[in-house]
Amino acid sequence: MSIAENLKQVRERIELAARHAGRDSASVELMAVTKTQPAERIREAYEAGQRLFGENRVQEFAGKAEALRDLSGAEWRLIGHLQSNKASKAAELFAGVDSVDSVRLAEKLDAAAQTAGKTLNVLIEVNVGGEAAKAGVAPQAAELERLLEGMAKLSSLKVRGLMTVPPFAADPEESRSHFRSLRELRDEVAGRLTGVSLTTLSMGMSHDCEVAIEEGSTCVRVGTAIFGERQK
Ligand SMILES: *Cc1c(COP(=O)(O)O)cnc(C)c1O
Repeated sequence: MSIAENLKQVRERIELAARHAGRDSASVELMAVTKTQPAERIREAYEAGQRLFGENRVQEFAGKAEALRDLSGAEWRLIGHLQSNKASKAAELFAGVDSVDSVRLAEKLDAAAQTAGKTLNVLIEVNVGGEAAKAGVAPQAAELERLLEGMAKLSSLKVRGLMTVPPFAADPEESRSHFRSLRELRDEVAGRLTGVSLTTLSMGMSHDCEVAIEEGSTCVRVGTAIFGERQK
């Protein structure tokens, strides 16, 4: 199947899941995850109407950005872990970073955004499963609040919400409780802190986006279902 046909199917899945959950499908954004995809395939998705894209690595996207510069209206976000020594490059290349998980990284990014003369939209990555090998803040309100308070003065970053990658489970139903706990964490913290708006919940991928939408996702990040299996 072509990328355009795959995209159409994914949009239909989102539509159905939203309807099933009694939500407006316009409240769920589709991000096309383009890691390992060459510029030509990303361009194909753009030509099929896709505008929001997520990349995992600064270096990888740096190698493709020039070839994609003419795609007007496209938005590029970093969704993979960012090392602080790549903060300036990230601030130049991306409209936002969805994987902020420490004050130290946020400070680097804020300084880099200021130098680049822009404001970066950011999401806080939460390690909902508390996995040792995974990035993200611990899934406790106190941890999240500490981070948000530490970021309050960073005027070149705009915090928009939370992002998570739950522990892998082949059965999407097993991820439901993790998606739900991200939403509940957001509700708890948003109700307590003033001056922060956490409207975005980035959760759900190719195999579990329906469950994520039922649990309140406002942005699903889909790679495989659009571009096919990635080369290892
Ligand atoms: C690769 C990746 C995705 C997309 O995963 P698929 O299963 O290919 O849809 C989503 N989010 C993050 C953070 C990723 O690294």
